[in-house]
Amino acid sequence: MSADTQPEWQRRRTFAIIAHPDAGKTTLTERLLLEHGAIRMAGDVKARGERRRTRSDWMEMEQKRGISVSSSVMTFESDKATFNLLDTPGHEDFSEDTYRTLTAVDSAIMVIDAAKGIESQTLKLLEVCRLRDIPIITFINKIDREARDAFELLDEIEATLALDLSPVTWPVGMGPDFQGCYDLVRNRFDPSAPSEDGTKRQLVQCTGPDDEKLDAMVKDYVLEKFREDAALAVEAYKPLDPEAYRQGHMSPVLFGSALKKQGVASLLNLVETIAPAPRPQPAEPETVRPEADYVSGFVFKVQANMDPNHRDRVAFLRLCSGNFKRGMKLKHMRTGKPMAIQNPIFFFAQEREITEEAMPGDIIGIPNHGTLRVGDTLTSGPDLKFTGIPSFAPEILRRVRLDDPLKAKQLNKALTDLAEEGVVQVFAPMLGADQLIGVVGQLQLDVLTSRLGTEYKIAAGVEPSRYQAARWLISDDKAALKKFIEKNRANMAEDRDGAPVFLAPGTWEIQYAAKNAPEIRFSASREVA
Ligand code: GDP
Repeated sequence: MSADTQPEWQRRRTFAIIAHPDAGKTTLTERLLLEHGAIRMAGDVKARGERRRTRSDWMEMEQKRGISVSSSVMTFESDKATFNLLDTPGHEDFSEDTYRTLTAVDSAIMVIDAAKGIESQTLKLLEVCRLRDIPIITFINKIDREARDAFELLDEIEATLALDLSPVTWPVGMGPDFQGCYDLVRNRFDPSAPSEDGTKRQLVQCTGPDDEKLDAMVKDYVLEKFREDAALAVEAYKPLDPEAYRQGHMSPVLFGSALKKQGVASLLNLVETIAPAPRPQPAEPETVRPEADYVSGFVFKVQANMDPNHRDRVAFLRLCSGNFKRGMKLKHMRTGKPMAIQNPIFFFAQEREITEEAMPGDIIGIPNHGTLRVGDTLTSGPDLKFTGIPSFAPEILRRVRLDDPLKAKQLNKALTDLAEEGVVQVFAPMLGADQLIGVVGQLQLDVLTSRLGTEYKIAAGVEPSRYQAARWLISDDKAALKKFIEKNRANMAEDRDGAPVFLAPGTWEIQYAAKNAPEIRFSASREVA
């Protein structure tokens, strides 16, 4: 199909950037946005009502406050594509949100610090990408600083990802010798040094790494090493195979420097040209294809109290099929009721013009009063349910301590609300009355207590519990499962959907229990029911 006749949704690139804190995600996000000028931001409390800004206003705002920190969805476009970049909160906001956001993207960029290699948080996020077969482009950042050897980094990444790598850009010197990046696919040199008048130098089209043009631009010993390494890299790694990448068997690798804008244009070009357009989404009874003639989507995030006076919530819906139009009635599958989407917040629009439509790959915000939960499906077509939106094993378990025992009922209601929003998980022990709450990161606990106080007027704190780990029990062998639950009743709880969860003081006890009950799977994640 030619570019003119292909449906508009095929130009959508819905993706996320995953990284360990400090690897350079924010810097890279800013570079990408500035490269093309973001046209719309979403999920930003302060920016409410400011959404009609023109690009220049936006730039000013960006300079004042920084961007990606507070935006959940950022849309920008180039001649060839419209990008929906979904933010995965890093350090401070680290929570299940991050994971769930990944269920709403079609591809991901993994940013790695060239001095550090793969770090713990990146690993966790990678697991989710694998679970969903999300293709990954690897960006090795900060090569302008002291970095590890390029081949050593590639070895480590290849071993961790367990898939083929294909270098797309290669550093021309690293650290103090850094002179720029060379695009091995398009044979272009991007020099790092500014030209004499201080402006950024143009890309230099070459015939190959041996092109004589480079001799005049790069120091001898740096060039020599680059040529040797580039030749070795081309020989040792497979050429870029877009299909293998989209199927999740290969990760293209770029070396670059977000700070110095090196490798960023090559990265965006890759997303434009080879990253997948909206993909079919797993659902029951069958996978939903973007070209289906009905509208469908799922909620991957709920953000409450964007306006504290109204207790409103905005559900972020990833559209998976059909052409959405404002005012449409969609069936809310969990309750079976129709919902007219009268006031969708469009995060996608052309400048200065509100688009009344959205298409597969787009994210729309639906204001509601708690009807919509993470994991919910909306559709205008046949009954269906999107699957695979995970709930993660909490890494911190706590009891909620209520200062005023008469507020127990309110606390219950608040916890249910917050669990629906995905802020915390709530577990009811099979023995005893105290509910336990579980979170993936410490910040969620702070968010919990602060929101209990400000929104629900409940004074409460959290206390340590004797449990540190939780696993969902899954088994086809119902008798074995029942037996295990009976035997371990004192350490069993139910999540809010009634699924059995085994609680333990640590992961050692879980491994021990799992070894003695081979017919049961102790799962660290559970699909949201
Ligand atoms: P995040 O936590 O992943 O969002 O990381 P940031 O984008 O905030 O970057 C962390 C720090 O690394 C900041 O001080 C950045 O200026 C710096 N940084 C990011 N990218 C680069 C790069 O390519 N080169 C160098 N030298 N520093 C960088």
